Amino acid sequence: MAVEQARDQGAGRPFRPQIPASLAYALHAVLASNPAYRWLAAFLERHPRLYRWFTTGERVTKERLFGCRMCGQCALPVTGYACPMTCPKQLRNGPCGGVSPDGACEVDRTLRCVWVTAWDRAESAGHGADLDLLQRPVDNRQWSRSSWVNYWQGRDEGLAVAFTGADPRPAIAAGSARAGR
Ligand code: SF4
Repeated sequence: MAVEQARDQGAGRPFRPQIPASLAYALHAVLASNPAYRWLAAFLERHPRLYRWFTTGERVTKERLFGCRMCGQCALPVTGYACPMTCPKQLRNGPCGGVSPDGACEVDRTLRCVWVTAWDRAESAGHGADLDLLQRPVDNRQWSRSSWVNYWQGRDEGLAVAFTGADPRPAIAAGSARAGR
């Protein structure tokens, strides 16, 4: 039930991060995966009550700093620490076509598009190339889970990948496409 509640809690609103990008990148270095964090993540997953407390702490912290909605698969390190899940359309690969020339969100013209914010922050910190990465679709089973634990457990592998130009989709023969309908 918690998963559905978190996923369906309504559209996000573009959120302006509360700390400078440079500080956020520095904090990420502190949280970088290492054997101690991997041990902690495994320990927490074996103890559901501790896991819930830890996840609540993560939610409170990241909600205040980044408007986090607890998707469980954190994209912040490659979006200038502007949360793409606060985009009303939850776009994880850049802005929609409706962003206005002055950078306003199409859904709420009083707010700045989160992707414009992401670009400004990533560029200012020398991480503009991160926005060229392709982000895989959200795994809806991870809503309300701790993204820190998921990261330390290695579940973020391939969350954002370089675009090679090759079509990653497997070729589907016409016959098998029909059979799948
Ligand atoms: S865990 Fe998901 S919702 Fe939370 S800040 Fe990261 S990308 Fe945004």
